[in-house]
Amino acid sequence: MTTTWLQKTEPEDPEADFVQSRRGVILLSGGLDSTVAMVLAKAQGFDLLPIFFRYGQPAADIEGFAAQVMATRHLGIEPTVVNLPEICIVQGSLFPLRNLNLISQAASIASGLDRPHIFVGICSAEAPESEGCQYNDCSPEFLDALQETLQLCDERLILHAPLIDTPKRAVFSLAAALSIDIVETFSCLEPRENEAPCGECVSCRERAGAQRAHLGA
Ligand SMILES: [Zn+2]
Repeated sequence: MTTTWLQKTEPEDPEADFVQSRRGVILLSGGLDSTVAMVLAKAQGFDLLPIFFRYGQPAADIEGFAAQVMATRHLGIEPTVVNLPEICIVQGSLFPLRNLNLISQAASIASGLDRPHIFVGICSAEAPESEGCQYNDCSPEFLDALQETLQLCDERLILHAPLIDTPKRAVFSLAAALSIDIVETFSCLEPRENEAPCGECVSCRERAGAQRAHLGA
């Protein structure tokens, strides 16, 4: 199993206490990518505080339940739930600059709680099925720039995106290898009234395409 860690801005002193501490936070959405990132980070020895954000997303309750199940099962703790004002929604289910908002919030928590490592589950957009990862604030360039900005605020903060070079279909393979129950993760943007995934939104299409690619269909 290979994992690429995004640390383009190297800490000045890799032996510094905050680098060695391995205390961190993970932005846990209840979806597959952040769950895989969480379990990978745990396997690397990180002590993680999972954070679930409510920001007006239609699937907040379902996502929150999935995040609770995943955090409890894999970390033995419940996620910290943070209620934010609603992020502007356009075109039904898109949240402009969502990652900038949420990672900034997580960084405040990370800094305040002396947990300098911040993990996000953003995966590679370099695959035909990864249409959902093509937002500007999912790009390596964005993460690199944000890392630099965060360190201007608190030099201890280190942003990790362990899946940034991993196509979505390979995330499914990782999930299987890590014994993650894919069915219990949730990533639909606009679920039906019975809480079933819609099958039509960008997240559902991306997930279905990646799953087909993973299965070689
Ligand atoms: Zn959907």
